[in-house]
Amino acid sequence: MRVTGLIKEVREQVKDWRRQGLSVGFVPTMGFLHEGHESLIARAAAENDKVVVSDFVNPIQFGEHEDLSTYPRDFNQDQRVCARAGADLIFHPEKEEMYAPDFSTYTEVENVSKGLCGKSRPTHFRGVCTVVSKLFHIVLPDRAYFGQKDAQQLAVIRRMVRDMDMDIEIVGCPIVREEDGLAKSSRNTYLNPEERTAALVLSKAVAQGEELIRNGERDAGVILAHMRNTIEAEPLAKIDYVELSDADSIEPLQKAEGRVLGAVAVFIGTTRLIDNFMIEV
Ligand code: AMP
Repeated sequence: MRVTGLIKEVREQVKDWRRQGLSVGFVPTMGFLHEGHESLIARAAAENDKVVVSDFVNPIQFGEHEDLSTYPRDFNQDQRVCARAGADLIFHPEKEEMYAPDFSTYTEVENVSKGLCGKSRPTHFRGVCTVVSKLFHIVLPDRAYFGQKDAQQLAVIRRMVRDMDMDIEIVGCPIVREEDGLAKSSRNTYLNPEERTAALVLSKAVAQGEELIRNGERDAGVILAHMRNTIEAEPLAKIDYVELSDADSIEPLQKAEGRVLGAVAVFIGTTRLIDNFMIEV
């Protein structure tokens, strides 16, 4: 497995693979890799001849008062996870390699970026789409792998790829959870033991919403009220949003019909966590 921080070297390596007729899968990450990331890399390795993983904490997707400076990093561990999962190349650039001091071009997806996380993080998806389109241009993969954990991000990326005619297949992968249900996240490391227990209200509420729909409930008001009650019963939890949306457009739903995304964002202390379920009704 090769490691580089240089765009030029990624391009040369991928060109060399292409000359040999090999397919390329790509997994963009912000590092501090866990089994969720690992599942994406392993899937990419199973479906492509070569796999590129990017490991870059993208500054422009963080808001001014968010956790850019404290975001966890462990590149040695990341290399071990990548090697184990079958990656061939890690792209681990410095911020200066990705952003010129006078950088001034952005990729923005309207509408899909506005609801859910877009409400409390108004510049987040612009930062995500900008870095992902840059990375797509650098790697030129056949397929790119994203977690359903960030369901709105997946919807936004799918829309970007469709609208901008990017010739890349976007593959959504299931949420990987801890044994007790908490969705794996690099940010779980911020939680103290008391908060770690409290954080279980996210997966509990998500499982409850999905169960209600499976049992025939269709009224979004009823479903959301149950989910909110579950979260509000936990004193350390503060709701950012609890919503039912169309999984592709991220428009709010009054009735659970079609491809339904039930998504929650909750502050546990100062840590903001997200979780969701997706169900076809
Ligand atoms: P991040 O490093 O948080 O930007 O995540 C990189 C990729 O890993 C994104 O596509 C995420 O959706 C995905 N991912 C993060 N956590 C999980 C998880 N628990 N299960 C599945 N995919 C995940």
